[in-house]
Amino acid sequence: MARTHVLALDQGTTSSRAILFDAEGNVRGVAQKEFEQSYPQPGWVEHDPLDLWSSQAGVAAEVLSRAGLGADDLAAVGITNQRETTVLWDRRTLQPVANAIVWQDRRTAPEVERLRAAGAEGLVRERTGLLLDPYFSATKLAWLLDNVDGARRRAERGELAFGTVDAWLTARLTGEHVTDVSNASRTLLYDVHRGCWDEELLELFRVPRALLPEVVPSSGVVTEVAYEPLAGVPLAALAGDQQAATFGQACYAPGQAKNTYGTGCFLVLNSGREAVASPSRLLTTVLWQLGEGPVEYALEGSIFMAGAVVQWLRDGLGIIRSAPEVEQLALSVPDSGGVTFVPAMTGLGAPHWDPYARGTVVGLTRGTTAAHLARAALEGIALQVADVVDAMSRDSGVPLAELRVDGGAARNDLLMQLQADLLGVSVVRPQITETTALGAAYLAGLAVGVWPDQATIGALWREDRRFEPRLAEALRGELRERWAAAVERARGWAAPTGEA
Ligand code: ADP
Repeated sequence: MARTHVLALDQGTTSSRAILFDAEGNVRGVAQKEFEQSYPQPGWVEHDPLDLWSSQAGVAAEVLSRAGLGADDLAAVGITNQRETTVLWDRRTLQPVANAIVWQDRRTAPEVERLRAAGAEGLVRERTGLLLDPYFSATKLAWLLDNVDGARRRAERGELAFGTVDAWLTARLTGEHVTDVSNASRTLLYDVHRGCWDEELLELFRVPRALLPEVVPSSGVVTEVAYEPLAGVPLAALAGDQQAATFGQACYAPGQAKNTYGTGCFLVLNSGREAVASPSRLLTTVLWQLGEGPVEYALEGSIFMAGAVVQWLRDGLGIIRSAPEVEQLALSVPDSGGVTFVPAMTGLGAPHWDPYARGTVVGLTRGTTAAHLARAALEGIALQVADVVDAMSRDSGVPLAELRVDGGAARNDLLMQLQADLLGVSVVRPQITETTALGAAYLAGLAVGVWPDQATIGALWREDRRFEPRLAEALRGELRERWAAAVERARGWAAPTGEA
C-alpha cells in the first residue's frame, strides 16, 4: 500500500493524542490517553517525562493498529506539543534527570521578580518578543540546574540535554537533539529576530550552551523514526500547539487570525515576515518556518477564562448541568438584561495583564435571572476576545478580515454569533475542529510532498458555518463601552492593600 497517511502526535497538557489523517485531510483514527498531573507544592505543576513519552508512544501504536495500518502506510509523522514545558535528560541514556516543569508552574516567580528588579525585562522583550514571566522555559531550566543534584555540573560537561516537549519526544523517537523554531521562540533564550540562541540571554538565565538543541524548521524532515511501530517513517514536522492550530486553520496570509475557545482562549494573528513589537503587551512569537523558507511571525494573546466560565456556571453556580446547556439557557432571553460579567476569576490576561483583577458582575436588578447571567457570561467571553483583537489590529496596523475559530466552546452557535456581533467581522468555523493535530499533519505532509504547497492545503479547509455580524454599530459601541467600565471595576480587586 502507498504511503498516503500522515500521523499527528499531539502531546497536550492533560493528554497525549495520536490522530491519523488521509491525504484529503480527513480524520481516519484517533487515540487518546490522559496522564498524571503532579502538584508537589502550591503553584507547582509537573509531568513525568516518561509518562509523556509512554502515553504518546502508546496512542501512536493504538491508532495505527485500530486502523489496520502500519509504518509502511505513513508518509510522515508530525509532532505538536504543549509549549514551554521544560524537560532535562541524560544525553546518553535518554533518561530524564527530573520531572518536567509544566508551563503553568509558578515556582520561579521570585527569580523572575529578581530579574525584573535588575532591569532585565527590556532585553528579554527586545530579543525574544515575550515578557519576563515564569510561564516560559528559561527560569524553569535554571531552577532544575540549581536544584537537581549535580545537574549544573553535568550540564556544563555536556552530559545533559534540555528541550521542550517536541525535543524530548524527538530524542526518544529518533535519538536526535533538535527543536523547531516555533518551540525555541517560547524559551526566552532565542533571539527571534536573528534566529539563534542568544549568548546574553543564556548568561542572564545562567544556562550552559551545551544543553541546547539544534533549531530546525517547523516543516522539514528531521530524520527517520527509529522507534519500532513507526520505524522508517520520516519525522517531518515539529510545532508548538497554537502555531500548529494556526497552520491547521490555513491562516497563511498576514492579517489572518484564529481563535481557540478552550478552557481559555488563544488568539494568533499571522503578521507575515515581520516580527511586530506590541505596545499592548501581546506576545511577538515565531509562527513557523517551512523548509528553507523565511521565518514567519505572529502576535499572540491569551485569555485565562473562556470555556472555564461555563464550567463555573455548571460546577460553581449549578445553573446548568452540562456545558452545552448554557446555549439554551442564554437563548431564553433576548439579551443580558443590562448585566455585564467580567470573568476575571484568575486575573485578566492580554491586553490588561492584571493578576489582581477578579470576577465581577455588575448591573444586577430584581429582574435578573439565571438566563441573563448565562448570557452575560457568554458575552463576557466574546468581549474579552474583542479587546485582544483590538489590540492586535492596533499593534499590527492590519484590521482583522475574519476570525477562524476552533476549540470546545466554538461549538456554541450563540457564542459565535455574539462574537461576530461584538467584533463586527465574520466568524468562521471549519468542519474539522481538530486543528492542532491537523496542522501538525499538514506541516509534516508538506515536507514530504503529500501536499505540494500551502495553496493545496488551504483548499482542503472546509467551512462548517459562517457567522455574520448582525448588531448595529451603535449598539456594539454601547456594549463595548459598558464592558470597558465593568473591566475598570474588576481591576485591582485582590491587590494587597495599598497596591490597588
Ligand atoms: P481544553 O483543550 O482547554 O481542555 P476544549 O477545547 O476541550 O478545552 O473545550 C472545553 C471547554 O469548552 C470547557 O471549558 C467547556 O466548559 C467549554 N464548552 C464545551 N462545550 C461548550 C458549549 N457548547 N458552550 C460553551 N462552552 C462549552
